[in-house]
Amino acid sequence: MFKCAGILLCAALAFFLAGCATAPDAPEQPISSPPANSGNPSLNWSVPGTGSKPAVKLNPPAILHTNLSSPVLPPPAPVLTWTSLKRWAAGQNIGAPRLLTTTPLTTYAVSSVNGTMILAIGSHEATWNGTGFNLGFEPELIDGEICLHGLDLAKNLEPLLGGPPLAFGTNRVIVIDPGHGGLNSGTHSVLDGRFEKEFTLDWALRIRPLLETNGWTVYLTRTNDLELSLSNRVALAELHHAGLFLSLHFNSAAPDRNQAGFETYCLTPSGMPSTLTRGYADLWAERFPNNRFDAQNFQLAVRVQRALLHATGAEDRGVRRARFMGVLQGQNRPAILIEAGYLSNPAEAEQIESAAHRQKLAEAVAAALRHRGDEKSDN
Ligand SMILES: [Zn+2]
Repeated sequence: MFKCAGILLCAALAFFLAGCATAPDAPEQPISSPPANSGNPSLNWSVPGTGSKPAVKLNPPAILHTNLSSPVLPPPAPVLTWTSLKRWAAGQNIGAPRLLTTTPLTTYAVSSVNGTMILAIGSHEATWNGTGFNLGFEPELIDGEICLHGLDLAKNLEPLLGGPPLAFGTNRVIVIDPGHGGLNSGTHSVLDGRFEKEFTLDWALRIRPLLETNGWTVYLTRTNDLELSLSNRVALAELHHAGLFLSLHFNSAAPDRNQAGFETYCLTPSGMPSTLTRGYADLWAERFPNNRFDAQNFQLAVRVQRALLHATGAEDRGVRRARFMGVLQGQNRPAILIEAGYLSNPAEAEQIESAAHRQKLAEAVAAALRHRGDEKSDN
């Protein structure tokens, strides 16, 4: 269904060839469907709605021959599978879960000073302060209590409810990656055929001065219509010792013209099934360098997704996990990939083609990164 063609093509090639400079036509990959909406109204992710052209400054080298070091990852900690949410919350010194409703799904809320999470028995879908995300495993009712898989507690609940607030690292160096470029055009607008690569670049160029004003040192993986492999995009972040990495994309579900909304991806934690596989083998046990940042990846993704939804009123398709995206796998820093609407949807394509809208997207990203994370309930 999804045809963010460039991601698909380049991810496919990078996955198998460990980096490519060109993206020739690749065979269509089988697509796995995202989980269907449970229909639980309390888990409805739809959030009600709430420039100037910067100069091009810097071109990255066309080809970077950087050998990415692969840090030795410590062995994963043993994970308890099913644990009572009440018992976990007590261990975190936060309030016990509260039953909200039993129809259509038995739904609970659990809160800390950071915010409120809503979860339902038998549903992967959950919300954090109103922003959707996907659990790895559906909560179960065991002996009358809501129980969660240990990986969800460690990788989803703890970073938001119990963990320290998101900090952006000490160096405040960020790499912004406008998706696609050159022959790798990405998807195209259903309205007039304009390419995704053009809009991602413009979005990135608008983000840069906003972040620089806020004290960030910003590098773009490309500042013109340059073709760049996924591995070189990661290498650029390595070269500049970036503390964060954001990859910018727009989506497509062509020929479906109705699908709409924003998604933000981060790497799937080891041991957990992915939200999206696009037909690739989703080997749960796989670990990548970026898995060291599971908590920060997720905090960052939730924060950015939330800011984008607030700025645009777009439909919330949730924070999702994927394992196949080459631009996320090899990162030695928190890294996310944003899909900010569907170029296959006429209404969203019209917005994406609007410079004012892209400025709004840029300001939302800048707003999400404005604080060091020491404020409450904003992630
Ligand atoms: Zn894309």
